Amino acid sequence: MSKSLKIETIDELLEKASVYIPEEENIKLIKEAYDFADLKHKGQFRKSGEGYIIHPLNVALILTTIYSDTQTIMAGLLHDVLEDCDCTREEMEEKFGREVTNLVYGVTKLGRINFSTENEYLIEYYKKIIVGMSEDVRVIIVKLADRLHNMRTLWALPEEKQKKIAKETEEILAPIAHHLGIHKIKSELEDLSLRYLKPDVFYDIAERLNKTKIERDNNVQEMLQNVTELLTEHNIPHEIKGRAKSIYSIYNKLDKGKKFSDIFDLLALRILVDTEQECYLVLGIIHSKFKPIPKRFKDYVAMPKPNMYQSLHTTVFGIDGCLFEIQIRTYHMDEIAENGIASHWAYKENRDAVANLQNTTEQKLQFFKSIIELNEDKMSSEEFVNSVKNEVLNNNIYCFTPKGDIIELPKDATPIDFAYKVHTRVGETMIGALVNNAIVPLDYKLKNNDIVKINTNKNSKGPSKEWLNIVKSTQARNKIKAFFTKSEKEVYLERGKEALEKELRRRKIAFSDFFNNTNTSKIKEELHLDNNDDIYLQIGNGKYSASTIVNVIYKREEDKIIIKKAPPKVTFNEADIVVDGIDKVKVNLANCCNPLPGDEIIGYISKGNGISVHRRTCHNLEYLDNRIVPVHWNSLTNDKYLTIILIHTSTRDYKLLDILQKVNVFDVNIESFRTIPRVETTIYEVNMYVKSLEHLSNIIKELDKLEYVTKIERAIR
Ligand code: MN
Repeated sequence: MSKSLKIETIDELLEKASVYIPEEENIKLIKEAYDFADLKHKGQFRKSGEGYIIHPLNVALILTTIYSDTQTIMAGLLHDVLEDCDCTREEMEEKFGREVTNLVYGVTKLGRINFSTENEYLIEYYKKIIVGMSEDVRVIIVKLADRLHNMRTLWALPEEKQKKIAKETEEILAPIAHHLGIHKIKSELEDLSLRYLKPDVFYDIAERLNKTKIERDNNVQEMLQNVTELLTEHNIPHEIKGRAKSIYSIYNKLDKGKKFSDIFDLLALRILVDTEQECYLVLGIIHSKFKPIPKRFKDYVAMPKPNMYQSLHTTVFGIDGCLFEIQIRTYHMDEIAENGIASHWAYKENRDAVANLQNTTEQKLQFFKSIIELNEDKMSSEEFVNSVKNEVLNNNIYCFTPKGDIIELPKDATPIDFAYKVHTRVGETMIGALVNNAIVPLDYKLKNNDIVKINTNKNSKGPSKEWLNIVKSTQARNKIKAFFTKSEKEVYLERGKEALEKELRRRKIAFSDFFNNTNTSKIKEELHLDNNDDIYLQIGNGKYSASTIVNVIYKREEDKIIIKKAPPKVTFNEADIVVDGIDKVKVNLANCCNPLPGDEIIGYISKGNGISVHRRTCHNLEYLDNRIVPVHWNSLTNDKYLTIILIHTSTRDYKLLDILQKVNVFDVNIESFRTIPRVETTIYEVNMYVKSLEHLSNIIKELDKLEYVTKIERAIR
């Protein structure tokens, strides 16, 4: 066991922090926090024999590895001062201000655990963590760093305590780090937990890794060189890393019944490039040289995981038939994969990085919020523990909406769970579901990667009580229960509030910034409403859309339509479409048929969402009648528009590189692509931004020249 021989110093901390914190006054603040903590902890020692200050100092050092901001580092240094020393909240607030003190107080709250039985203990713990998170996510980040250092020095404690802390780390803190996307901390927490929980397994794996290390290293080196040469040939600037698999991840695979040899033969590489397009290009190049294993390709670039992780994954037969697991991502994606939510500090494009961070947290961690909202006294202790265990820890599946948005659900979830996760309204009006284009019963058990389309009917009478026996997620269960216990007015109120919150999140506006007295008075005056509840009510019953309400305050947004997932350079401009006889109207391009300039188009007046523009040939227009309006393209447009083409080929050979290279010659932005293997042929779906129908026709003409291409068509959904 390795005790750290090196003693960390404050100078080291200041040096690491100043790498990414340029302001001298901030570095000075960190030094002051250290001096204060040092003074307060004087005479205290850790179980390991070191002076106590070594612990907060290390916590702060860990925080610099994930680029935490000044206040978080200060809180890391001060985190045990309120609890263990003679120092009041007031004293700290006077010296370091409210923000830092609140963070320290939050961490202290998390640490005070009173419990009698294991269950109750878990409940209290989770609740505190969740509450802490909803107040300020940085509290949790300090807690994670605190725990990581405690785990690193766990050897100093008696065995019984080691096991207890390790178990809690494995069950609670590592999953939270995972949910926040802080892979660096998650992975070390897991390895350290395993070392104390199952030392025999841990050292067995470590030893086997050591024994085969040289051979594996050689193979990785050789492959690395090969790939480097290949990419250099194609002029793609890149960086490649051999990747160490964590002991815990190997243990996990063994636990799932895999054989030692299968896992150890699997070698890992990570390729970093500058742009998203290069990711796909690199993938194409690698697949053209090394045979990929079918079905192992995962595109988390086009479809990020809920914790923001983005990367392409593929497994190929490398040199000497060794299997290589290859990850391809941009430097930015890599930063997010390692540091998760914390990496936002490293990319301070926004003035208010913390508000932005909090906003992202809200968006990404809806689950935590919904748990706390729902659990308040409605659930028994046991239900609460089970729901947390089922939903936070492991066992989640990932399904897709028809538009490709990821929905995370507990194992065995049904289409009803899916519908409620998308939106309460969708759940309450659902009448059926299609999974991968086939009709399924409502109790169908969803599987990973299922594409789920929920059919709704506005006139539906709402959920059935039967559903309570079918659903798997706490969220759906509680929403259904709530439906039956609430009056219509309450339902509308809740719906309205939910819709407004969602709209604000979408526009990255903090709820508290929006819903203040000045703004609500203005809204009430403008729309002639009596009280604040009325605002929610009018949204909930459909009289006003949430965006209309937000627009009363933030008018500018109205002029701009954001096409989802569009690369930043290519936003659709309303002026691109002219609607006869109407000057200023909200217009959007239908995403079923993705019209391009040059296409014959037609407008359809959608309820509350302006005019959506379809291609004249779009089959979705068949049922639409009196709400059709003539529209045409503005001849001056100079934007790029999303188009989806399907390229049918006559071979199962991987031709993607070929295709992408042909396409790349034309000035397009490729957003994503998909390979659809058939029995003896392959179809490639390419999503890209082009200027016009003519532009697209030229590309299609060029692709048509490839002898294996049998047909090219534009997709209509
Ligand atoms: Mn501590």
